[in-house]
Amino acid sequence: MKVIVADGCGFCPGVRNAIKIASETLAKKKNVYSLGEIIHNKDVVKQLADSGLKISENIKKIPSGTVIIRSHGAGEQQLKQIRKQGLKIVDATCILVKRVQKIAKMLHKQGYKVVIIGDNGHPEVQAVLGSAPDIDVIGNDKDIANLPRNKKLGIICQTTQSPEHFATMLEKIAKTPFSELKVINTLCKEAIKRQTCAVELCQKVDVMFILGGLHSANTKKLAELCKKYNKKTFHLQNFKELDTSTLLGNSTAGVTAGASTPQWVIDEFVENLARFDTGKKRNS
Ligand code: SF4
Repeated sequence: MKVIVADGCGFCPGVRNAIKIASETLAKKKNVYSLGEIIHNKDVVKQLADSGLKISENIKKIPSGTVIIRSHGAGEQQLKQIRKQGLKIVDATCILVKRVQKIAKMLHKQGYKVVIIGDNGHPEVQAVLGSAPDIDVIGNDKDIANLPRNKKLGIICQTTQSPEHFATMLEKIAKTPFSELKVINTLCKEAIKRQTCAVELCQKVDVMFILGGLHSANTKKLAELCKKYNKKTFHLQNFKELDTSTLLGNSTAGVTAGASTPQWVIDEFVENLARFDTGKKRNS
């Protein structure tokens, strides 16, 4: 089977940095915890767990040691609690996620009602909610209908949302009775690059594979976008999850991967796929 890998797939700088910081911390210290899974990829989480990284969702249950703040960041209350318990902090928050938190704080200080377009359940959004008071999250049209009226709205966006979604939601927000609207683009260029390359590729191939954690927001976004243009799009975590019957009758496959997918997962997938005989002559 002919396999084409999208440009710019796999680890983004923020994830690479978080893994490097975690590995370096584990080499130097004992009792190292991450506040939630360090990235949304079970293979990497397992590797780090094998090196001694413990995961805790609840700061109060961490008895002693060092807490790594993952790339999604943490809210101010969480940071205060960590310090209060005398635990050491190693901050692996992605600088672009930090920027969103700083902007939220700044907009609040300037008197805006801060509104973030994103997924309320996602840790990055939860951390932003913890960086300034009274932030509204816009995940769907119903949330827009609930926005306060006649207020100064300061709009930001979860880093991994698509530009299309950001624009659609902005258009809808602009139709509400606000008194002033300030919009700051907080999308991540790395995530946008992956989305653009994946959408381009999925339209040229018979079948498209998106590799990455099932809870990874940027991987899910890649799959959602590609499904719009190629119905034969599949989101898998690794080669073991591939149902080879999806390959039959297809001659070309496209592969991309989320920002938290390790290179070896991509390489293993591509090598195995390239060896697969689908019984169909491929176009060169
Ligand atoms: S996708 Fe972008 S914002 Fe998220 S960790 Fe990577 S570089 Fe940072």
